[in-house]
Amino acid sequence: MRGRLVKFADLVAAYERLEATTKRLEMRAILSELFQSVPRPELAEVVYLSQGQLRPEYEGVELGVAVSLASRAVAEGTDAAPAHVAERLRALGDLGDVAQELLAVRSAVPTEPLEVREVYQGLLDVAKTSGEGSQDAKIGVLRGLLARTTPVEGKYLIRFVMGTLRLGVREATILDAFAAAYGGGTKEARLRIEAAFNVSSDLGVVAESLVDGGLEALGAIRLTVGRPVRPMLAERAKDLAEVLKRMEGSAALEFKYDGLRVQAHLDENGGVRLFSRRLEELSAQFPELRTELPLALRTAPAIVEGECVPVDPETDEIRPFQDVSRRRGRKYDLDKVADEIPVVLFLFDVLLEGTEETLGLPFPERRARLEKLVQGSTRIRLATQRVVHDTEAAQAFFDESIAEGCEGVMAKSLAPESAYRAGARGFWWIKYKREYTQGLADSIDGVVVGAFHGRGRRAGTYGALLLASYDPAKGTYESFCKVGSGFDDAALQALPERLKPFETAERPNGVETGMEPDRWFTPGLVLEVRGAELSLSPTHRAGLGKVRAGAGFALRFPRFTGRYRDDKGPEDATTVDELLRLYRTQVRRESTGDDDAPEGAPALPPGRKD
Ligand code: AMP
Repeated sequence: MRGRLVKFADLVAAYERLEATTKRLEMRAILSELFQSVPRPELAEVVYLSQGQLRPEYEGVELGVAVSLASRAVAEGTDAAPAHVAERLRALGDLGDVAQELLAVRSAVPTEPLEVREVYQGLLDVAKTSGEGSQDAKIGVLRGLLARTTPVEGKYLIRFVMGTLRLGVREATILDAFAAAYGGGTKEARLRIEAAFNVSSDLGVVAESLVDGGLEALGAIRLTVGRPVRPMLAERAKDLAEVLKRMEGSAALEFKYDGLRVQAHLDENGGVRLFSRRLEELSAQFPELRTELPLALRTAPAIVEGECVPVDPETDEIRPFQDVSRRRGRKYDLDKVADEIPVVLFLFDVLLEGTEETLGLPFPERRARLEKLVQGSTRIRLATQRVVHDTEAAQAFFDESIAEGCEGVMAKSLAPESAYRAGARGFWWIKYKREYTQGLADSIDGVVVGAFHGRGRRAGTYGALLLASYDPAKGTYESFCKVGSGFDDAALQALPERLKPFETAERPNGVETGMEPDRWFTPGLVLEVRGAELSLSPTHRAGLGKVRAGAGFALRFPRFTGRYRDDKGPEDATTVDELLRLYRTQVRRESTGDDDAPEGAPALPPGRKD
């Protein structure tokens, strides 16, 4: 068949055979035969069509045809009354079957066989038409195609349009078929083909290369700005000792930010496109990142990766990721939510820099490149990193990460083989998260011992307060959190006045903290806070060493409840032993760490992760 235009009937024959089997081997054989029969110019189209798509998935091209619209097209294309179509749909339950039935009894029988190319073009037109009058235009195209299909072709055309093909063809099956068709079916061929798909995310491009030059040609598939790379994934370890063991004693640890993974593509004209972990385009949702990226990176074009997290602009504290997930699905008021939920993109990798593909370089070299490439800005920063050689150092870094509002650490191999492995999960990256805990059942009464100057809207007052817990045994006030959330404007304005009586030039005796606030207070004012959980941190000193040497309790995501406990003196505030009990009674569960499923019972508050 190669060399002539593919008939739609040939594709439909393959669809019928695919539908009739659930065996992966058989599907592979059917697809491999189909692809080999198709001339080069039509190959990509046939590959997409066999996936039930028109374009590679990341482009997000959708037909946008609702059942009412498709029903009208079927009625008009088969000269049937709309009521009759509706009735048959109720009886058969599938509009494709209805089309097939009605086409079998229509009066005018088509003479010219349809070509795949015409169907493909028609469907692409349907997908691209939008706005006023688009409904009629879409119906017009579908009616025109139906007028020329045989009954069985009509069935698959309508199913395709409705997204109900149900052929069971997965990406993996298509990769198998490519390996069978162009690589002798060997395991090695399959691996090379998959690797090419992982960097291009486009099965059409992979198929074309294979036809052009077999497996050897795959190496010529280049990273392309605007075409996302399938993300490298991490393995897990049970503890930090295992992390280091797997990395032969030394690793680069990075904060594991809890947000949305973003792959940013910057073109040479300053254009930016952003893709999620699942390669959906996020460009529209983060206008401020599109503005800042060209300024924050020294070279264009470039492809970089990072984690986008919500950050409180006044205190610069990381907020729970649920805030940023609210921005992901937004379609309207994009600038408004950008102001309401400011984010920071913490960059952790570089895949393309100028014309050079850096993804094959070992990780330490990529990090060095990234550090040179990123000049940084308010919203674009480097992920915090430290190279460690022992578990104590790893634990200290982990504690810092938690104290900063992150969910753990990402360990990255320093080995020469630590290239960026697109789409692959392996021990070159290991994630280690704190155990998930449920939110604290109780509120905590904290004593104000310090304050930090406010910025932005909070200029002139305090942006955050340093709170301490009392240790009656030692008579000390030991810090456990810095709280900036939960103060309304009135409360904020009143803060300096309220705290004035307690102001003191130096750290009062008995106040223990690893933080350096802008202002110190003698312990006096007590206020109530709530938080997601208690964790351990080297910067806070509440109950220092009670659970682990060198670490105190830290309240994660603290929030002022609005209540000043004027009824309590500082010695009546929550004590360190109460914190210890709270810490011990937190409901603990292991992190599932599952990439593809929403976390079963996440740390509070709940939400869905990319
Ligand atoms: P998980 O989603 O729990 O499987 O963890 C992997 C995810 O952590 C990645 O896909 C990123 O979105 C995110 N992440 C956060 N910080 C980093 C980092 N420093 N390096 C790599 N991935 C990170």
